[in-house]
Amino acid sequence: MQNTKDKIIYDGIIVHFGELWLKGRNRHDFINTLIRNIKAALGPELGSKLIPLRDRLIIDVHTERELKSCKSMLSNVFGISWYAPFIKCESNMDAIVEKSNSLFHKGENVRVEPHRSNKSVAFNTMDIVSAFIKDPSALKFVPEKFGKKTLYIEVLDKFSILHKEKIQGLGGLPIGSSGKAIVLLSGGIDSPVAAYYAMKRGLEPIYVHFYALQNIEELKASKMPAILEMLLKYSNTAKVYYIPIHMFQIAAMKESQKYEVLLFKRFIFKTAQIIAEKENAKIIVTGESLGQVSSQTAENLIATSNGIKCLFFRPLLGLDKQEIINVSKELGIYAKSILPYKDACSLRSKNPVTRISANALDSIYNRNGLEELSELSISKSDVRYAKPA
Ligand code: ATP
Ligand code: MG
Repeated sequence: MQNTKDKIIYDGIIVHFGELWLKGRNRHDFINTLIRNIKAALGPELGSKLIPLRDRLIIDVHTERELKSCKSMLSNVFGISWYAPFIKCESNMDAIVEKSNSLFHKGENVRVEPHRSNKSVAFNTMDIVSAFIKDPSALKFVPEKFGKKTLYIEVLDKFSILHKEKIQGLGGLPIGSSGKAIVLLSGGIDSPVAAYYAMKRGLEPIYVHFYALQNIEELKASKMPAILEMLLKYSNTAKVYYIPIHMFQIAAMKESQKYEVLLFKRFIFKTAQIIAEKENAKIIVTGESLGQVSSQTAENLIATSNGIKCLFFRPLLGLDKQEIINVSKELGIYAKSILPYKDACSLRSKNPVTRISANALDSIYNRNGLEELSELSISKSDVRYAKPA
């Protein structure tokens, strides 16, 4: 590391995991999944510079271009609690004090936050603080409450690292560490937000979208690829099923309009369950929120998901629409979600049933031969691995 007054040349980026610490025995699997995900996000060149170092990772990058691109990639990886560009020095107090001056201007008010993971060194964290207080040539050490800037020091086995910021990561768990989930993705606002929360809990998404457009070419020209693209920022790649809905629509027309939404929901859940079995996924994710629309009353949620063997994960269940919209805007997806789209459930019914029993829905579903249509519709689906453009 060398340094000019205003331009710090860093020795790499340190990455700390968050919740992974809570996982006891599974910790190694979690860390390995995180490493795999970070490498996938960074790509082969930068990924090869990743070095696991006990309870943290280091990315051995130096140039401004590399640092910038690592920082931008790391900001989208779940399972990271914080990361920071660092400089390194020998693990002795003189070196630490001297090197610290390259991060700050002389005389700057700085609070010092030392951490010693190598307990075999001959000094403790209080000694480090005292060394700063005693050395007048060093940066101006101030007590915690006065310092706006912080010098973070980590004393490791072979060297120590110094940094002056902690960039907050997304937190959560690395994608894949909780297995796979079928994410029911509509063209609306809610389901992409639900997908984000599912990924945050470590679920690898397999997206399933039912479309009412004429053909896959029309779908490709719609807003759906753009919505997907924004979600791929987090998972890097994902399997996607685009399933035509016309067979369902024809069959459901035989029934009173007031049941159509509920039949649709049962149909997409049944179909999702079959895909879950094929894909070895145990969870179905939806963007439903309790009471948001008539199909999402407690009774209708129970009835539509009756008999489905997967666990339902409805991360938005307790959120108001405005809260969901706020997250969608934060994620940058909202503007796409509100673009016009021919929804699969552009339903005929103005007054859908607000409460139906599971048994009643079962019998309406079965008398229309909907049961066979799931497999048939899957056989007509377009399945692909989506990657960011
Ligand atoms: P969204 O805003 O995400 O479209 P919504 O509030 O419009 O949801 P519904 O139409 O009742 O509510 O759909 C509830 C959930 O069912 C969606 O969040 C999504 O998970 C799933 N879903 C609805 N339509 C489709 C579709 N065409 N393809 C896949 N999943 C769908
Ligand atoms: Mg909606």
